[in-house]
Amino acid sequence: MIVHDEEDPMVATAAETAYKLFMGGSWVEAESGKTFQVVNPATLEPIATVPDAGRADMQRAIDLAAASQPSWGNSVAKDRARILSDAARQMHAEKDKLARIMTEEEGKPLAESTGEITYAAAFLEWFAGEAERVYGMTIPPLTPVKRILALKRPVGVTAAITPWNFPAAMITRKLGAALAAGCTMVIKPAEMTPLTALEMARIFQDVGLPDGVLSVVTGTDPRALAAAIMEDFRVRKVSFTGSTEVGKILMKQAADTLKRLSLELGGHAPFIVFDDADLDAAVENAIYAKMRNMGETCIAANRIFVQRGIRDEFVKRLVDRMSKLKVGNGLEPGVAVGPLVDEPTFDKVVEHVDDARSKGGEVMLGGKRADVGKGYFYEPTVIVDVKEDMLISHEETFGPVAGILSFDTEDEVIARANDTKYGLAGYYFTRDVGRVWRLAEKLEYGILGANDGAPSAAVAPFGGVKESGFGREGSAFGIDEYLDVKYISLGGIGQS
Ligand code: ADP
Repeated sequence: MIVHDEEDPMVATAAETAYKLFMGGSWVEAESGKTFQVVNPATLEPIATVPDAGRADMQRAIDLAAASQPSWGNSVAKDRARILSDAARQMHAEKDKLARIMTEEEGKPLAESTGEITYAAAFLEWFAGEAERVYGMTIPPLTPVKRILALKRPVGVTAAITPWNFPAAMITRKLGAALAAGCTMVIKPAEMTPLTALEMARIFQDVGLPDGVLSVVTGTDPRALAAAIMEDFRVRKVSFTGSTEVGKILMKQAADTLKRLSLELGGHAPFIVFDDADLDAAVENAIYAKMRNMGETCIAANRIFVQRGIRDEFVKRLVDRMSKLKVGNGLEPGVAVGPLVDEPTFDKVVEHVDDARSKGGEVMLGGKRADVGKGYFYEPTVIVDVKEDMLISHEETFGPVAGILSFDTEDEVIARANDTKYGLAGYYFTRDVGRVWRLAEKLEYGILGANDGAPSAAVAPFGGVKESGFGREGSAFGIDEYLDVKYISLGGIGQS
């Protein structure tokens, strides 16, 4: 829907583009008629307007979902699979356009946006297959006159509240599972990145998803929109990706109507490099795990623990590689680091770096705003002598800042890595097979990358432990989040 200036492809002329809400198979304004602007974080220019929906709009979306739930829930799995596959195919066909919109609203480099579209489509492809594998069970009874069957049924109307950092993938890994299971879904995308969500709704409309099964409701008042979801008994499940703080609020609110929840919350990933590691691989993977999406990921390497004997060499190579990453507008060729998404995110990075400096951290690279444009650009940064009392060691930085801590022994680093309330992802690099297994068992995280800085995949169960939340997305586990088990005890067998 965004139109680009033919003369200068760097200038989007989408300021006039007015998106609408998607509900009941139609495109509609917010009931109030209000709209808000979506701003490009690289240029600080508005790129589109979208409806600023309120509680009444969300209630209408839930009404429509509830009305279409019986037919969607009883539809044939093969038909649901076909819609998911077709939507994935169309995402691939429109990859360039979708990626560009994503970069314009979120900031990530175009190559990363393109990669995210492929990753997002993979969830639809995966769940198209899973739709047809929702099997039940027959259970041997305790008496010859009975038979016991366990069936899986869709939980009903579901809602997704999604973050801005992966505008497409955080939607498809919820929506793909929900639709495959036979659930309708209302989506409240993050206010910074509503465009990708609305574009994906258009794709589902194009491939023939029945009206009402999916709604996308955009707005600037997440509390009001979430209240409409959380207070409505008909919504039986909510899947949320975002901060631990909001996850806790939603969990309290879910209690009143006993909704099922999947919460994928904050992380504080340790990235551990032992002195027997393949150092080149460790450096490359550390850069990926740290710098993807400018460090704004919940599985970002936040605490890089390096064994003392190789610390200086690791830091030298890391600084050398990170100093070559080009910062700028994600639409420019060769840019590896785009702007941070907004001012509060930028300010938090500044605060973390200043705090580390003031407590004895030494900045080896970066450590300041990148002077490459109006947007929220921050230089790739490496800080050594990071200590546990620094903010960077216990809060998510969500920026391009690699904090390096040193350690001596395996037991010590395991204890330090686990010393956090978070438990989403962890990484470690070692060539010792025994150690690979010991850490796999002892590190308290839902996702571990053993010699792997890029563990995410649609086929794998993504999710955390402790205050990183619960529930799994993707993989064969993902669809169960949207299914209830119902058992039928069949009496009278053999009775006349
Ligand atoms: P992040 O730190 O990634 O921005 P948030 O938890 O603030 O994480 O945002 C993730 C999603 O949660 C967004 O869609 C946002 O609009 C929504 N959100 C923010 N505050 C609330 C709230 N109080 N209740 C429900 N949803 C919220």
